[in-house]
Amino acid sequence: MVSKELIEILRCPDCVQNGKGELEFYKEAWFVCAECGRKYPVIDEIPVMLIEVGDKWVSTPKDQLEVPAPKTAAD
Ligand SMILES: [Zn+2]
Repeated sequence: MVSKELIEILRCPDCVQNGKGELEFYKEAWFVCAECGRKYPVIDEIPVMLIEVGDKWVSTPKDQLEVPAPKTAAD
């Protein structure tokens, strides 16, 4: 489980620089940024909040994301 406190404070590491970056916690497997479209996987219960990882999923519609996120999502 990802803790509620963590879910509330996590922001997209790119958009947060403009004071935004709120994330949607999607199916307990991904954090989705509505502003830039990056999607950050939760792997082994750890959210991987790296811009270059989020970049990989920009063009994947969120309903096509694997749930749970595959361990290779952050490779
Ligand atoms: Zn973003």
